[in-house]
Amino acid sequence: MRFDEQTYEASPWTFQDDANKDISGYYSPFFKESLDKVPEQWLTPKKRELKSSHKEKKPVLGQLDVQSNIFTPYLDDEELSGTLMPNPFSYCPSCRTEHSGASTEYSKLFLLNSIGRATGTNVIVTASLGASPTNERKVIGFTDNRQDAAFQAGHLDHWYNQIYFRRALYNVLKAQPNFLPVKDVPDLLYPLIIDAEYEKSIPFAQRRMFKEKYLKYLETYLYVEIRGTKRFISINLEDVGLLEATYEALDEIIVQPELEYFTDLKDVPKALLKDYILGYMEIFRSEMAIGHPNLMDKSTFRQQVIDFIEQKAPEKRIFEAIEDTNVGIYTNGELAKFKYTSFTPHSFDGSRTISSWIKKCFNLDDTTDIVRVIQQTRDFLLKMGYLSKQKVQYEDVYFIEPDMILIQAPKSEFKYQCKKCGSKYNWDSVKKCIMPACKDDLVPSKRRIIFIQFNTPSHLKGEII
Ligand SMILES: [Zn+2]
Ligand SMILES: [Zn+2]
Repeated sequence: MRFDEQTYEASPWTFQDDANKDISGYYSPFFKESLDKVPEQWLTPKKRELKSSHKEKKPVLGQLDVQSNIFTPYLDDEELSGTLMPNPFSYCPSCRTEHSGASTEYSKLFLLNSIGRATGTNVIVTASLGASPTNERKVIGFTDNRQDAAFQAGHLDHWYNQIYFRRALYNVLKAQPNFLPVKDVPDLLYPLIIDAEYEKSIPFAQRRMFKEKYLKYLETYLYVEIRGTKRFISINLEDVGLLEATYEALDEIIVQPELEYFTDLKDVPKALLKDYILGYMEIFRSEMAIGHPNLMDKSTFRQQVIDFIEQKAPEKRIFEAIEDTNVGIYTNGELAKFKYTSFTPHSFDGSRTISSWIKKCFNLDDTTDIVRVIQQTRDFLLKMGYLSKQKVQYEDVYFIEPDMILIQAPKSEFKYQCKKCGSKYNWDSVKKCIMPACKDDLVPSKRRIIFIQFNTPSHLKGEII
């Protein structure tokens, strides 16, 4: 909830809303987080007062009257309960887990076994449809408020589009004998998404133009849709092992004579070099560091393509939820410089993910050695045309050349998977996951079965408003 310090008026708030206005955070009637309860390091050692650096995090004691929506603060010594934990959520008053500033509100509050309203609807609707006779597959849903009805309707549309699109993509790829450049996929997908019958709704003379724009739309968001997220939540085809990516002519890249100029790479055994370069590229791809012009210049693309699709075929605007995705960039410039750009900057030489990947591949430990390998690999891949370089805010920024990405539906089960995050790999030589937090050796891959459990973590149930 959010509350106004002057009027004490409380209103609904979620962590997706603007947090700058008033005081916003998470209210629970069951806790009283007075100063003796906050984490030890928030207090000065002698007087046990709140350090000024932690002022913003101080839990606000108060009671919410849900009839009048008034939040009334009370004092430490009063026999009352009720606490507003300010956003960002700093620690959990129930299990006392402390959260660092770096993690997102979503990840602090959303556990693997928990579900949001949307997932619940997905599961119930799928189960009801599956249990209905084939000629009567219809579901009417009821909910107790209009906001939720609107939310669920929009959500179901989006969810259906996503499933429909992924199924079409998987079928297109499965029919191909080999890896295919991502840019060649839209032509194959088009007839599955815009069939001849649907095309009749587009004015005759505009059909060619529509197709041209729609192909661009498919191509642009395919790059976003297929990236491996390496997460447990909102997983996609790649995360469940139904899609595999590689890069143009990778087998030949690793034997090019230019390698001689790169002292740290030239003597690496070829199988290891191939895994290493693939991993380096996959790190870029998982951060959406893909230099596609339509992703980089969103406003032009919106005007020229998305608005047109919205006008002519609004129900085929299937990527609405990911149209705002920012392109990631790797740079050695100061990250703060990119604050007002539409890019998500990542430190290049200082990248924790890339350095940990280099450590895993080459058993290096010294930071200067690692940085040298990062730079040599960058320059080699630039020379080979895998990466491209541009100036943004007067700094060099790097990303993948989109045409280099190839995808296929795996022909057989992946060789390995990570026990911790579930990512799948076909490495020839390295036995490690590219995620820095995953330390263990990979294990032989199994098909992944996903269980969804229907309870919220009991200690938060009904407590967070
Ligand atoms: Zn907790
Ligand atoms: Zn992993």
